Amino acid sequence: MQITIIASGSGGNATLFASRGTRVLVDAGVGPRVLAQCLAAAGAGGALGWAPDAIVVTHAHADHVGVAAKYNKKHKIPVYASEATARAAALGDPERVRLFSSREPFAIGALTFSPKPLPHDAAQVALVVDDGARRAALATDLGEIPPGLLEHVAGCDVLMLESNYDEDMLDAGPYPQHLKRRIRSARGHLSNAQACALLAALPGGTHTVALMHLSENNNRPELALDAARDALAGKRARL
Ligand SMILES: [Zn+2]
Ligand SMILES: [Zn+2]
Repeated sequence: MQITIIASGSGGNATLFASRGTRVLVDAGVGPRVLAQCLAAAGAGGALGWAPDAIVVTHAHADHVGVAAKYNKKHKIPVYASEATARAAALGDPERVRLFSSREPFAIGALTFSPKPLPHDAAQVALVVDDGARRAALATDLGEIPPGLLEHVAGCDVLMLESNYDEDMLDAGPYPQHLKRRIRSARGHLSNAQACALLAALPGGTHTVALMHLSENNNRPELALDAARDALAGKRARL
């Protein structure tokens, strides 16, 4: 399985999963030109020279939905979403919107997606993507680690996990109080410390961890990386 993280953060999110001729874009929260360039660079061929076979939208926030509806309408690419997400966001022509249950696995070509609901201020899912040989987990936009998430992602070869904010930087930062409260809440985003709690409990099997959805204002990559490195001490996983 080939994984290309095209963009991650509140400015936009898109990750391409490719295996045995199937290419699925999870979230399409980047501009069409950037997306087309990144897909071409990632070797996403297809009839249009750059198109994925399908787009899976994790939740209805703009930094994830992005150009999904445009791709659906203009390039006739099916968009997969949970019922709640499809209700909350325009995803294009309803005939090409495929609904999935946020608790049941579904297949797109060579890839199987296993969702799990996450606590966020929009109906959100973590996804484990399985091509029969390798498994990768993607979990961003969650206010806390819900029961069962560790078991859901345990043993995945690759884990892409949100590490949104440093608590001190958020406290001292420029955001208004209501926004700070929203981010910190159980339906907001995951702090470096919360991400580390999951990483520290991660059983063997994971060889690569990627920290995702870092805040530009309330985090610094080196803070998130240092904390995660400590949490993963003694484990095989690399950052
Ligand atoms: Zn987001
Ligand atoms: Zn969100």
